Amino acid sequence: MVAEYEIKKFMCEIGKRVYNNGFVAANDGNFSVRIGENEILTTPTGVSKGYMTPDMICKVNMKGETLQSSGPYKPSSELKMHIRVYEERPDVKSVVHAHPPYGTSFAIAGIPLTKQIMPEATIFLGCIPIAEYGTPSTYEIPDNISKYLQNYDALLLENHGALTYGVDLLAAYFKMESLEFYAKLMYHSIMLGGPKELSNSQVKDLLELRKSFNVPGKHPGELCLNNSCPTKEVCASKSVASKDSKCNCNEKQAQTQSKPESNDMSALVSEITRRVLNELNK
Ligand SMILES: [Zn+2]
Repeated sequence: MVAEYEIKKFMCEIGKRVYNNGFVAANDGNFSVRIGENEILTTPTGVSKGYMTPDMICKVNMKGETLQSSGPYKPSSELKMHIRVYEERPDVKSVVHAHPPYGTSFAIAGIPLTKQIMPEATIFLGCIPIAEYGTPSTYEIPDNISKYLQNYDALLLENHGALTYGVDLLAAYFKMESLEFYAKLMYHSIMLGGPKELSNSQVKDLLELRKSFNVPGKHPGELCLNNSCPTKEVCASKSVASKDSKCNCNEKQAQTQSKPESNDMSALVSEITRRVLNELNK
């Protein structure tokens, strides 16, 4: 087992990456590592994650009560969100929350990352829904992410940021990097006239490939074939998919297949172009 101090040091290292990559500004963002059944190490609140030292890291239990902290450092104010992930996903040992600019822009614009545009993003993330807005530090965010936890390892948080989680801190952090890269590619391809999406059969082949990689964690799998849903109502699960008419992507897929440049996509591209031009003309 890795010594606790080593984990704290690694949390500081990841903090530098999160900060230096511009995934957070100032003191924003937080991440945690579950080191035991009832023990979580968490970043402190009110501290830049780029300048942390191991003594600043706090320890809490699964109720969020502080077990260890030093000096003025207090546990992250977003612990409720982290604990909800640990409660509902026992396989998860680390949670990362940040505000990466491209991903967060999609979360603000209300556009989920549903288009399957490149192999790595499809294999390691699949589609990324937007969990409905909640006030930070309340139970609103934990309650709103809950329905996505069993099918996704990466989420956008409406008008707020992004959340990723995995079997260890590096895995959770890499998902944040991948989410941001996916969002960046998506943004630029929209600017270039709209992405040419992978076909459903190409996506299915990539999902098969993922199985052979034995990647730990959850993946939305065939929910990614719902790639023609341009709204935030991305299917939370297969059961929701069949009940929710807004998310009846089988119908939408049929339309998309017969018309590669779907109306949804054209509308999305022209709306984004219109907004960008409006901003530039201000
Ligand atoms: Zn935040």
